[in-house]
Amino acid sequence: MENFPLLIDVLPTLSNRIKDYFISKSEFELANQVDNLQIKGLCECGDPDCGSFYLSQNVDNEDKLEFFSFEGIGTIEVYKGKIGFIEVFPSSEGYQIRSILKKEGFSY
Ligand SMILES: [Zn+2]
Repeated sequence: MENFPLLIDVLPTLSNRIKDYFISKSEFELANQVDNLQIKGLCECGDPDCGSFYLSQNVDNEDKLEFFSFEGIGTIEVYKGKIGFIEVFPSSEGYQIRSILKKEGFSY
């Protein structure tokens, strides 16, 4: 297992919002994953306002992908019950998230 930083350590506010979101949707298995999610890397689109990032359990296969629309912020992608990608639409919030991840040493 590679050692990626925990989402809750790097982006605690976003992490808790994601957890609360899944709880509000009664998606408890997904909510339970949130505290253990590890950030794997930034979205490679290169848009400075894009705050999207990959998680360590991301898979490339798009079969059976589920999308959860996340409060106007973006989309959460779930593959076979595992949260794999957090899409944060280009925005000032996206810019902030990207800046924090870059400070953590992530590149794309
Ligand atoms: Zn992007």
